[in-house]
Amino acid sequence: MSVESVEAARHRVVVIGSGFGGLFAAQALGRTDADVTLVARTTHHLFQPLLYQVATGILSVGDIAPATRMVLRKQENTQVLLGEVDHIDLENGTVTSQFLERRTTTDFDSLIVSAGAGQSYFGNDHFAEFAPGMKTIDDALELRGRILGAFEQAELSNDPEEQARLLTFVVVGAGPTGVELAGQIAELSRRTLKDTFRHIDSTRARVVLLDGASDVLPVYGGKLSKKARKTLEGLGVEIQLGAMVTGVDADGLTVKEKDGTERRIESQCKVWSAGVAASPLGKQLAAQSGAGIDRAGRVEVLPDLSLPGYPNVFVIGDMMSLDKLPGLAQVAMQGGKYAAKQIAASLEGQDPSQRPPFKYFDKGSMATISRFSAVAKVGKLEISGFLGWIAWLFIHLLYLVGFSSKMSTLLSWAQAFFSAGRNEMAATEQQVFARIAIERLRHHENSRTAGNGSATEQGAAGTDAAAATDNSDSSPADRKAAG
Ligand SMILES: Cc1cc2nc3c(=O)[nH]c(=O)nc-3n(C[C@H](O)[C@H](O)[C@H](O)COP(=O)(O)OP(=O)(O)OC[C@H]3O[C@@H](n4cnc5c(N)ncnc54)[C@H](O)[C@@H]3O)c2cc1C
Repeated sequence: MSVESVEAARHRVVVIGSGFGGLFAAQALGRTDADVTLVARTTHHLFQPLLYQVATGILSVGDIAPATRMVLRKQENTQVLLGEVDHIDLENGTVTSQFLERRTTTDFDSLIVSAGAGQSYFGNDHFAEFAPGMKTIDDALELRGRILGAFEQAELSNDPEEQARLLTFVVVGAGPTGVELAGQIAELSRRTLKDTFRHIDSTRARVVLLDGASDVLPVYGGKLSKKARKTLEGLGVEIQLGAMVTGVDADGLTVKEKDGTERRIESQCKVWSAGVAASPLGKQLAAQSGAGIDRAGRVEVLPDLSLPGYPNVFVIGDMMSLDKLPGLAQVAMQGGKYAAKQIAASLEGQDPSQRPPFKYFDKGSMATISRFSAVAKVGKLEISGFLGWIAWLFIHLLYLVGFSSKMSTLLSWAQAFFSAGRNEMAATEQQVFARIAIERLRHHENSRTAGNGSATEQGAAGTDAAAATDNSDSSPADRKAAG
């Protein structure tokens, strides 16, 4: 284990996270008289709104995840470091991150924390084994493997019950992500995979969209929710509302109705898109600064997005709680730019007490349901159908980072929307099994460091990795879970 210190001569700004908030903050700091260090646990910026298209074979990883250091290559005052931040010391102005065995401590004069949010299973984290969420590239690729794998297994099965289970896809959560994913799984089965199997009819796959709320896209409400529901039903998606998931296992899930009755849905491929929990770094920041924290783990920031007593520390994006602002890309991007501007103003001598409060400019929100159909809400303006889809197409292209990403995405869209084909239909075993293998390795490492492991360091890790990735050794439950 080594500890290194990254020295800097000028004002030092550390940005945590390379998502919408972090990247836009770092870019806005490009022309300031400061040394900027961006620390993130992935090497890429991720355009999360299009993850579902990676999961369903429309886009490639590269289309939505440009390498952060390539994006920032011309920004000479900025260094990009790979590492997972696990400790922030507000008093001493340090951020400590870890990459493999290496620990790095980076000093800061100003800090912008934009570590985003993860999936929340509302206290049922064990659901994740069989109903993964969709927050990262790994999640999307795993999901692609599970979806396509279920069709492949169904083709091999002669048992009608098993076939039905394999061809039932359940998406939990009818917010924008759930709606988009359910719509795309339906289109995949009805258009892309049609006539590609000889034993099964892919078009008869059951796609269930399930939510405890009383409507799909409840944040849009009224006309748009109805429109979304109608379009989904037209695609053959079964919508089940007022239904709470109470159990998830390899073969299906248990659902509780409003009247308290429970029922079961047999399904191999389940996806969770029902809730979010802010990065655990929020708890550290709250504990050290005395800031409040809301139920989703978001830090209650001051009107200038800083922490009480720490005008040099900003928390933005999905990690911040302010005026009930939603967890949207625009909130993070605008927060990042605002925080960078306040740091630049401080460098020019502005007193933090003179800062204008952060004002969010609502540019609207949108969700696509199928090709040529989307719903969008911009202020009081509501658009749906083809017009909504054009708006969706334009906005997403506009905000994709990098010209080459925009071009390759446009080409992949042309292929997917105007023909039955999709460019990214490959799925590997690693995609599907790696998460389970990595979790086992981590578990093993944790028990070893806690003094429970008996094997040597090298041997133990190697043996467990082999056991976890070798299919012949994986339990039937693992194999089923992997879809
Ligand atoms: C599937 C999906 C679809 C979405 N669709 C839309 C949409 O259509 N429209 C919309 O406006 N919003 C959408 N959102 C929400 C939007 O993506 C988020 O609001 C936005 O990404 C928040 O930006 P952020 O910078 O706060 O966090 P993120 O973009 O999540 O970035 C967090 C960054 O922090 C890094 N990180 C996390 N923890 C650590 C750590 N401990 N150490 C170092 N680095 C760390 C991550 O690797 C990442 O780089 C969607 C989100 C998802 C998951």
